[in-house]
Amino acid sequence: MDDIAKKNFLCIIKVLGTGKFALMWKHIYPHHKKNKFAQCINPICTMILLDGKIASAHFKVKIQEEVQQIIAAGGKPPHLAAILVGSDGASETYVANKIKTCHEVGFQSTLVRLDPTVSQQTLLDKIQELNTDDNIDGYIVQMPLPKHIDESEITNAINPAKDVDGFCATNVGRIMLEQPGFVSATPKGIMMMIDYFNIPTAGKHCVVIGRSNIVGGPMSILMSRKTNPGNCTVTLCHSATQNLTHFTLQADIVIAAMGKPQFLKADMIKTGAIVIDVGITRITSTQTKSGFKIVGDVDFDDVSKKCSYITPVPGGVGLMTIVGLLQNTLLAAKKSFVY
Ligand code: NAD
Repeated sequence: MDDIAKKNFLCIIKVLGTGKFALMWKHIYPHHKKNKFAQCINPICTMILLDGKIASAHFKVKIQEEVQQIIAAGGKPPHLAAILVGSDGASETYVANKIKTCHEVGFQSTLVRLDPTVSQQTLLDKIQELNTDDNIDGYIVQMPLPKHIDESEITNAINPAKDVDGFCATNVGRIMLEQPGFVSATPKGIMMMIDYFNIPTAGKHCVVIGRSNIVGGPMSILMSRKTNPGNCTVTLCHSATQNLTHFTLQADIVIAAMGKPQFLKADMIKTGAIVIDVGITRITSTQTKSGFKIVGDVDFDDVSKKCSYITPVPGGVGLMTIVGLLQNTLLAAKKSFVY
């Protein structure tokens, strides 16, 4: 191993702790090439990549172990269902990845496909069916839905005890009031990632960009909580924020969830900031065979030179969202919350 690779190893062990390092080594790179590991961080060790593959693998192993314990005790594996309306390319991919990951950890899964012209009533009837099906522990309705369907009416029809995406008013309200309930899967996954990489957050200034009900809003609440991770001073920015850079330049932690490809540039953050990129947008590219590539809300090449930690896209928050969903499904199967 050369000096740079050695330095990289020592640095990442320091960040992860030896236990997590060993787990990561065993589960992610069973047939490792040492250089592959060294790619996790840059050669001068100033920036750490918050690799969603590493963090999600750690949590998937833990979930899988719990599933095995449930089965060994005579129980049934957790069962997640997904309703997919239509055949939007991105939604198809997200649902396929969720189902694939269910199988990896030993969950049962069911995909319910509905025609894009389905009526709101038929969708509500399906939801009622899943609400009372004892065989299904939790389910999601993949968003976005066709324009003729009222998304909030759909999310609020989901039995809160099975709402593993954490979108319904009951769960959002419970989280707001610090009561037990399902935390929206993406913010939950991000909190798990911050925890996994031992990133100190207490007393930091966290700027969340985006105020949606499923990402930016709950993220700002979780980061402001008196918890670890959390305990931040939070600024929530959005499309009406004037002079966004004024706020992002003050941020110790930036969480970008706006859906604007490669929007956040190096000159918008302070040196050493922690950058979490939630955005997923498909843009045209001359570098790929398909002519497209997936990018986040952060200009990775630019920002990664200036920050201390950064999530890649793809391979960052998206993988943690699935882990958040699986964790919620496990909680649903164990009837962890009383409604
Ligand atoms: P949304 O469209 O509901 O919300 C976007 C938010 O960004 C809005 O609150 C808006 O006010 C804000 N915004 C837009 N332009 C802005 C600007 N110029 N300056 C400041 N704020 C601005 O989107 P969403 O559902 O929250 O998703 C955001 C992004 O995250 C999308 O790219 C989406 O695909 C992605 N996403 C990723 C995951 C994942 O697992 N990685 C999960 C959910 C969403």
